[in-house]
Amino acid sequence: MKESKQLLLANKAWAAELTDDDPQFFRRQAAGQKPEFLWIGCSDSRVSPEQKTQSLPGRMFIHRNIANLVCPEDLNLMSVLQYAVDVLEVPNIIVCGHYGCGGIKATLDGGVTGPVDRWLDRARDVLADHRDEIEAQSTPEAKVNRLVEVNVRDQLVKLARTDTVQAAFAAGRNLTLHGWVYDIRDGLLKPLMKINRTTDLADIARPERVLLTTEELEAEVA
Ligand code: ZN
Repeated sequence: MKESKQLLLANKAWAAELTDDDPQFFRRQAAGQKPEFLWIGCSDSRVSPEQKTQSLPGRMFIHRNIANLVCPEDLNLMSVLQYAVDVLEVPNIIVCGHYGCGGIKATLDGGVTGPVDRWLDRARDVLADHRDEIEAQSTPEAKVNRLVEVNVRDQLVKLARTDTVQAAFAAGRNLTLHGWVYDIRDGLLKPLMKINRTTDLADIARPERVLLTTEELEAEVA
């Protein structure tokens, strides 16, 4: 069977199952949205946010791009952010990176061209700012994974400095920014840091290093 036809059949089964469990579900969906989260994550096919958090439609407003980068000049993300904060009034924004990120690996190793190469300039800025710590990691895998972590930190701080978030903080809004990383090796989300309106943005440490090599992870599980 063609893959696209499989998607349509799976969709029918999914909608039928949801309606069986909750006959009014789609009627409520049609009435409007009030999501609890804005999720900013990587486009990687392995890191779909709703599946890994068992979230039904309506819970998350979502923006994804390669390497979960926050750029004030990115009209796409800035409009998503404005709508989520000002109109939907989400109380939480999550910036989620993931270990083994291809965009972060390319930032370290090169080998990309065209728009991807230009896009990754923002991640190269992160590498330049944390080069000593990245280069001090023991393996290529650990270098990628530590850059994933400090990239989440830097993008979260950039997010906190945007006009939209600064205005929400100044208005006393209950808005929390969360920096998380997802581990594609065990399926688990790991919180790294938080920012709210009381946080001093000039004094944000790098997040604690988590388990960056597969050997460390296996030793932890054993
Ligand atoms: Zn990625």
